[in-house]
Amino acid sequence: MSEQLSDLHGRRFSYLRLSVTDLCNFRCAYCLPNGYRKPANAAEPLSVAEITNLVGAFAELGTWKVRVTGGEPTLRDDLPKIIRAVIGTPGIRKVGVSTNGHRLKENARVFKLLGVSALNVSVDSLDPVRFREITGRDTLPEILEGIEVALGLGFSSVKVNAVLMKDLNDGALDSFLDYVRERPIAARFIELMPTGTNQEHFTARHVRADDIVQSLLERGWTAEERNEADGPAREFRHPAYAGRIGIIAPYSKDFCASCNRLRVSSQGGLQLCLFGEGRHPLRHLLQSAGQREELKDEIRNLLGQKKISHYLKDGNYGSNQTFSTIGG
Ligand code: SAM
Ligand code: SF4
Repeated sequence: MSEQLSDLHGRRFSYLRLSVTDLCNFRCAYCLPNGYRKPANAAEPLSVAEITNLVGAFAELGTWKVRVTGGEPTLRDDLPKIIRAVIGTPGIRKVGVSTNGHRLKENARVFKLLGVSALNVSVDSLDPVRFREITGRDTLPEILEGIEVALGLGFSSVKVNAVLMKDLNDGALDSFLDYVRERPIAARFIELMPTGTNQEHFTARHVRADDIVQSLLERGWTAEERNEADGPAREFRHPAYAGRIGIIAPYSKDFCASCNRLRVSSQGGLQLCLFGEGRHPLRHLLQSAGQREELKDEIRNLLGQKKISHYLKDGNYGSNQTFSTIGG
């Protein structure tokens, strides 16, 4: 039996979220409201060879699921090569991509051909005017067409993610319910999370998802049984709907107990918790396949530093400046 990476609190880590670029072409109000600006001293993102070494080590440590994220991963010209390298890694059984839907009609076909099974698309509102207000982009119709293409291609999972914001989309449950009535999609509301650069927005817009959960229960939706691979999302089902509704609520109790994921930044920094302090550089150990054992030892040792919980309730959200540098 292969090794299974675990921490001192009994949690097992089989899922890697791998950011492949910090670059993004959207201006989401909670993430990059002024757009992406390359920092003066920015290092190049990990190469395909470095990613191959990284994912190889994680797979030998029991990772079987990888999500490629960003920034906006589809802005990397060599994304197909990255996906091919990840999918070709022995032990990796499931590969997903998180995208803002940029060129989704074309990209969905490429992803499918490459063997991607799970697609997550950010759609903060189904209203084009609101969508533009939130993301700075006018592309909702194209993104929705891209999702139709993806559904036709038969990905095993298609999810749309909306960051929940007071007075922007906290009244949008009905539109998302209509959307998933006939479509086998999970529409998930992610509670807005604080970062180093979104304090004002967070204070103005943060709202808990409790009202949405309450509305779902009143309308006959029921919570799904969870299993270990699910991670911290809670999902709800209704017999009259093809799709599901999900809630990601980091302030809820037990959120951290189901943590099954680790994150690596586009520059090869291991982040033990989304709300953790700092990243642990791995890049120097990604330079040749011969460093595999040293790399695995480093990852195992770093897991010893993973804390039992985040400290969001104490107002401590860690050192993240924006999620665009780690992939959310
Ligand atoms: N650009 C891609 C996208 O938007 O899907 C992938 C990267 S993005 C950082 C990944 C996810 O993080 C998206 O669903 C996004 O909405 C979410 N996200 C970003 N900042 C967030 C915040 N402050 N709170 C909650 N979710 C956030
Ligand atoms: Fe870009 Fe995604 Fe951040 Fe929006 S959430 S600005 S699409 S990285």
